[in-house]
Amino acid sequence: MTSPAAGGPLRVAVVGAGPAGIYVADSLTKKNPGTEVDVFDRLPAPFGLLRYGIAPDHMKMKNLASTLQKVIENPTVRFFGNVELGRDITTTELLADYHAVVYTVGASTDRPMGIPGEELPGSIAATEFVAWYCGHPDTDVAPISLDRPQAAVIGLGNVALDVARILIRDPEELVPTDVPDSVLDALRASQIRDVHIVGRRGPEHVKFTIKELREMGELDGVDVIVDPAHFANVPSELEKNVTKLVEELRSWSTRESTGAPRRLHVHFFAPPVAVVGTDRVEGLAIKRGDGVEELPVGLVFRSIGYLGVPVPGVPFDAENKIVPTAEHRVLGGQVEFGEYAAGWVKRGATGVIGTNRSDADHTVEVLLGDLPHLMARQVTPGTAVELVQSRVDKLVTLDGWNALDAAEIALGEERPNARVKVHTWADMLSAAGFSSTD
Ligand code: NAP
Repeated sequence: MTSPAAGGPLRVAVVGAGPAGIYVADSLTKKNPGTEVDVFDRLPAPFGLLRYGIAPDHMKMKNLASTLQKVIENPTVRFFGNVELGRDITTTELLADYHAVVYTVGASTDRPMGIPGEELPGSIAATEFVAWYCGHPDTDVAPISLDRPQAAVIGLGNVALDVARILIRDPEELVPTDVPDSVLDALRASQIRDVHIVGRRGPEHVKFTIKELREMGELDGVDVIVDPAHFANVPSELEKNVTKLVEELRSWSTRESTGAPRRLHVHFFAPPVAVVGTDRVEGLAIKRGDGVEELPVGLVFRSIGYLGVPVPGVPFDAENKIVPTAEHRVLGGQVEFGEYAAGWVKRGATGVIGTNRSDADHTVEVLLGDLPHLMARQVTPGTAVELVQSRVDKLVTLDGWNALDAAEIALGEERPNARVKVHTWADMLSAAGFSSTD
């Protein structure tokens, strides 16, 4: 069956069911009603970074899942989970079935620091820690042991704030969230009493957002400590949002200690030069003026940004760790018109979840502008999903995801809570309706 040059519906494959991918599906079906969109994801569950990146205590943000769910319930949108591009289906096979393919696979690895000792046990990438507390099935939730009284978090971005907040806040406050029980147990057993956020630049260069920063300053049982001297050279003229951030941090620097049981220290102008230790982390060496000082931390969390990873069959800019594009069209792809990218894999790891909505809209506008070229491509509808069905034993469709979703909600009733994550591959697939012998 070959699609007619005109008349048949536009068919689009989206690879990656995170917010970027689902916003693309939403935008396509709204701007060009009738478009058939198949959304593939490597994981058995949709929603990507919403599920596995947003911190569990940011429950309001997690409510976005209900909006994204409506998109995958749209009659012309289908979800296929547990499908890995390059393993279960190739780009060539997708392009033979769909008029267009949109890559929205995100940025899943950490930016290396390139300092001695960064590989020591106890030096943990934020990507790994975030995946752990979010119950990502690729992470073993047991081994992260928070067995030292002091920890450092390197970086002045929102992920560093998330990591520091999860480490320092009273774990009982996480009971009404979706963290797996094993994560909650590990946080309850945590020995950490002091968390040091370490940044290489000054207060006016933080990448935090104000809401998240203020939240940090209001945690129960936590004193925040910043050296007032760090504000001596902050310029007086700053953009409005930067002024708010600096003023919030400055207000922390004037706070008296309340004798709270846990403390958050913020160190500016302190570029890390080495993670210190022989068999495991025993300290973090930071530059201070002309000298080097060692923070006596037993754990180091490296939170200096996320990077994209190459996907088989998709062009990759190895320097910038993104899929190269011009006007949202993939550069160097297999077809002149037909391959697009959206979200972090295109832009790099910047912006908040909502940024992906406008990004998806812009990508879709270009895609739809290419419609005459796309509809002129010879495609054979249905072939890719047939191949996937023949190759993937445990193919998770919307029904399977809904069953997994219901299982998580049921687990929540025991805690009690809205939901608790099912966090291993085996349990996720079983909850999605596949027995271990399937
Ligand atoms: P980010 O915002 O880019 O922050 C990275 C931080 O790492 C910066 O402070 C950067 O400092 C620092 N850094 C980079 N290389 C370094 C090095 N070699 N040594 C020391 N510090 C270094 O990245 P992110 O925190 O991973 O966040 C990624 C995106 O997700 C951001 O857009 C963020 O806003 C978003 N996000 C949002 C939320 C939310 O809305 N609640 C939550 C989490 C994440 P320099 O400025 O000096 O380079």
